Amino acid sequence: MSVLVFVESAEGEVKKSSQEAVAYAAAVAAKLGTSVTALAFGGSEAALADLGKFGATKVLNATDSRLENPNSVAAATAISQAVEAEGATVVIFAKSSLTDGAAPRVAARFKAGFVTNASEVPSTDGGKFTVKRSIYTGKAFANVELKGDKKIVSIKKNAVTVTEGSGSATVAAFAPTFADSDFLVKSKSVEKATGEILLPEAEIVVSGGRGLKGPENWFLVEDLAKVLGAATGCSKPVSDLDWRPHHEHVGQTGIKVSPNLYIAIGISGAIQHVAGINSSKVIVAINKDPEAPIFKAADYGIVGDAFEVIPKLTEAFKAAK
Ligand code: FAD
Repeated sequence: MSVLVFVESAEGEVKKSSQEAVAYAAAVAAKLGTSVTALAFGGSEAALADLGKFGATKVLNATDSRLENPNSVAAATAISQAVEAEGATVVIFAKSSLTDGAAPRVAARFKAGFVTNASEVPSTDGGKFTVKRSIYTGKAFANVELKGDKKIVSIKKNAVTVTEGSGSATVAAFAPTFADSDFLVKSKSVEKATGEILLPEAEIVVSGGRGLKGPENWFLVEDLAKVLGAATGCSKPVSDLDWRPHHEHVGQTGIKVSPNLYIAIGISGAIQHVAGINSSKVIVAINKDPEAPIFKAADYGIVGDAFEVIPKLTEAFKAAK
């Protein structure tokens, strides 16, 4: 018996969301009196062994070249075989475009209880396995009881606070077997949108709204983002107006972000925008209207004209470096 956690890497580094998933899996394993095995599709031995710092005892590394840019069917096949090999009773995923497709497939194969958007470590009180999950785009929570021999949990970002220990996991090769039908969809190439930091993974996001008046003023957002090492985002009207590319649109109908710090500049704070940012750890709003709804969502607010405040902030951060 063990808890299995699926981890993803980007450019050789284990993703932060996967480190969180390992920490979450370790908390579940502690409650169940068992250990954590991680499954990775490649990655350096040192980076995988470092998953021990987050609570993994063992890492299975599937280095099959067909898993380099996997589709969710092949991923589900490999993960299911690892579940069987380890006799895992609980499987943890961090939400991603790959796991959105793979996790429900694994759940279906094992007829397992399955929950998405888990926001806290499950309770095992009374022998039940109850998971708190975020619903209605973060406006409410539901407590869901999972039944069945196997339980599958997909966690939202920032569901646990990660603290690094000093452990080291053993890394073992894992060779899943595939059928041709696992590869009916095949990634031919992957192209980064641009060289900038990707929004969904960003630790800091600086986002601009219609309050910035036009694309010619976006240097203010970009300069601040650059000095902070942040990704840039925007509200929906801004991308609809073609002031910014659509892949920067944050919100209910755009990208949902979960950085440690989200800075909203000249954004009113409509519910559709806030739905995409409410997993952020800290939200800072800069708006000249003290009544703007964004201040209700924000942890810190600056009431002021963005055209005066932003250059001062950027200079102050530069000076502090
Ligand atoms: P505005 O509402 O025009 O607000 C501009 C803000 O800038 C104001 O608060 C103003 O006080 C402030 N401001 C003006 N000048 C300055 C200045 N000099 N300095 C500082 N502040 C200033 N929106 C999203 O963002 N994401 C979504 O995913 C999304 N999905 C939607 C889905 C549906 C079905 C619908 C109906 C709407 C959706 N919207 C979405 C749109 C949303 O309702 C709002 O219209 C939108 O978020 C407003 O964008 P904004 O805050 O940039 O602009």
